[in-house]
Amino acid sequence: MSRIHLLSPRLANQIAAGEVVERPANIVKELVENALDAGARHIDIEAEQGGIKLLRIRDDGCGIDKDDLALSLSRHATSKITTLDDLEAVGSLGFRGEALASISSVTRLTLTSHEQSADTAWQVSAEGRDMVANVSPAAHPVGTTVEVRDLFFNTPARRKFLRTEKTEFSHLEEYVKRLALSRYDVAFSLRHNQRTIHSLRPAARPIDREKRVAALLSPQFIDSSVHIDAEAAGLALQGWVGLPTFSRSQGDMQYFFVNGRVVRDKLVVHAIKQAYRDVLYHGRHPAFVLYLSLDPKLVDVNVHPTKHEVRFRDGRLVHDFLFRTLHKALGDVRPDNQPNGSS
Ligand code: ADP
Ligand code: MG
Repeated sequence: MSRIHLLSPRLANQIAAGEVVERPANIVKELVENALDAGARHIDIEAEQGGIKLLRIRDDGCGIDKDDLALSLSRHATSKITTLDDLEAVGSLGFRGEALASISSVTRLTLTSHEQSADTAWQVSAEGRDMVANVSPAAHPVGTTVEVRDLFFNTPARRKFLRTEKTEFSHLEEYVKRLALSRYDVAFSLRHNQRTIHSLRPAARPIDREKRVAALLSPQFIDSSVHIDAEAAGLALQGWVGLPTFSRSQGDMQYFFVNGRVVRDKLVVHAIKQAYRDVLYHGRHPAFVLYLSLDPKLVDVNVHPTKHEVRFRDGRLVHDFLFRTLHKALGDVRPDNQPNGSS
């Protein structure tokens, strides 16, 4: 065996990138979350060749100070938390300070930013982490654009795991849908190979929210769903659940948000499944867009790097609340309540 030595920062970042960056969709998620954390009101996402060739995410958020530009690409560099107390009450989507370092270690990345109080914009680039730390002046309105080219250009073994352009784009679009469903107050656009796929204006009124859901999922979903608005024991649930007549052959139209973050949680899935048990045929899956809000202290989001899992302090309570709310909402469409007994 060789002697022990420290990994070079570049290799350490490439290894860490394995956790965060598997495909273009993960990059979009990280960059859009950064834009949201920066207070952006408009986020434009552009992709070429499924995002493998190019991803460009432009926002009108607060921007990054010139002196912080190079640092933002370093590992464990974040402006979002400082202490353990901050971590426990984390309100931002990011906090690990890992995304830009990981992404720049496996792509050619250019970051251009105009900090809100500065008179001009600045740019920094990195290629596979051989960071050219020189910062040069650039033209850009207040906000940030991150351009990422040639995913895995320097890690061919990882590149082999990428699927077709079409498949990668559909994963990417899926992440954009989740993000756009999580923030109705923000405008989003998505373009692929010069074609506009989504163009969503801010949606403040309930009717505009329904329009956004219809545009992202399907107009039929809104027409065949029950609106949910319930509250009990410090828990609140809002959104839409599809009627059994709108069931799917796959669980591909299921969006569940906890305090604004999309989650995939076994307990949640189980509660919803139970609620639909006697109204759905075996093998059919419900469609839903649901928002659960609760005291942030009662849920731990710091479970996994991609943050899709959560841990509820009182899982039983959450399960019962979800089950009861949805069971009741679906009550009217239960087979024994329907005059002709089937759907
Ligand atoms: P994290 O989001 O976990 O802090 P990142 O690596 O994603 O880590 O980003 C590092 C830092 O760069 C952020 O903490 C933030 O200060 C800054 N940053 C990144 N993207 C943006 C953006 N679009 N607008 C403003 N600041 C940004
Ligand atoms: Mg981040």
